[in-house]
Amino acid sequence: MRKGFLILIPLVICVAVLAGFIFIYNLGITKENEHSTVAVIKQEETKPRSQINVVTTPKPEASKELKRDESLKIVAVGDILLGRGVGSRLKEQKKDFTYPFKQVADLLRKGDVIFGNLEEPITDKTHSLTGIKEGGKWVLKNDVAAFEGIKYAGFNLLNLANNHILDYYEDGLFDTLDILDKSGIVYTGAGKNIDQARKLAVIEKKGVKVGMLSYTDMSEVLYKGNPPLRFKAENNKAGVSPLEYDFSIKPAKYDYKAMEQDIKKVRSSVDILIVSLHWGQEESFDVLPEQINFAHHIIDSGADIILGHHPHQFQGIEIYKGKPIVYSMGNFIFDQNDPENQESFILEFEYNNKKLSDFSAIPVRTIQKTQVVPQTGKSAESLLNREMELSKKLSSECTLKNDRIVFGVN
Ligand SMILES: [Zn+2]
Repeated sequence: MRKGFLILIPLVICVAVLAGFIFIYNLGITKENEHSTVAVIKQEETKPRSQINVVTTPKPEASKELKRDESLKIVAVGDILLGRGVGSRLKEQKKDFTYPFKQVADLLRKGDVIFGNLEEPITDKTHSLTGIKEGGKWVLKNDVAAFEGIKYAGFNLLNLANNHILDYYEDGLFDTLDILDKSGIVYTGAGKNIDQARKLAVIEKKGVKVGMLSYTDMSEVLYKGNPPLRFKAENNKAGVSPLEYDFSIKPAKYDYKAMEQDIKKVRSSVDILIVSLHWGQEESFDVLPEQINFAHHIIDSGADIILGHHPHQFQGIEIYKGKPIVYSMGNFIFDQNDPENQESFILEFEYNNKKLSDFSAIPVRTIQKTQVVPQTGKSAESLLNREMELSKKLSSECTLKNDRIVFGVN
């Protein structure tokens, strides 16, 4: 009886200490949430529980593992299109929508945050803007089934500010928002009104809050259709978030004032701030001087990374004051014909204690318009050399290491 009592004492102490730890930890979480001024959507963790567990344990091996986990990885890629020529080829070959990502899923899922530009709505609607053959535009959409591929690849942060997301009018956009909302994927750049389109998207991983604002310079274009449509969102109109122009200057130039205000408003609520820009010259490796000026302003206003897209080709990367400016990430998966439009990079940004410590680019190529494949050795050479040259023109320090480009960030 007495012996049993003696064994019980250390057991009770252990339980009390553990309860204390859990109480303090929960207190920390509540405090953090109270200070948050923006809507935070916590992602479903896809990693094994052992890696995300924050409860302290006395074993030295476990604390080592915890230390490694302190680094946060953001992975980013360019335009995603699973419709049109990609979709029809997959159907012909009786392949599902996970096939395009089979060889890159492991690389993508290494990210805590995995970004892509969703270049077209996910919808089964059929009423679209006027197609190219009828004198309109290229009209794009993803089958609803294509969403399986996006989930499989691991994307959890998507840009919707672009020139195709309303190709099937607001109904196509609403279907997309619905699917993303249900899946818990964080997005921004388009919404049911201007406030939603411009809202800050926040994704929190390992206690680090990553925020994103998205804009496109294509929001003022009036597209042919029944009715014709301008994509810009307004107070009572669904649409995309505009990268504003200053029309008082001839020719009109990008106006950074509205974006600067947005950045200042949200800066203190997140640890890392991404600005996603759907902009620039299509089918070109050239970055315009106006884009460079604008990007510098945005970084000076408080952004940590600029992720550009739209030109369909992967342009040079600039490191400005230690912050990466990716002018255009090209096509990640698309059905265009030119070899340059089938080449891009998977970008890996690594943050330690919320500071960028490593930044590198892994070359990939879309093969037969259906699958993205990492490139190594001889097949990677032309891609790596071109990107090194384009980035050096923007004064970036970059070196080749194991078939990837490593950028100097300090
Ligand atoms: Zn575009």
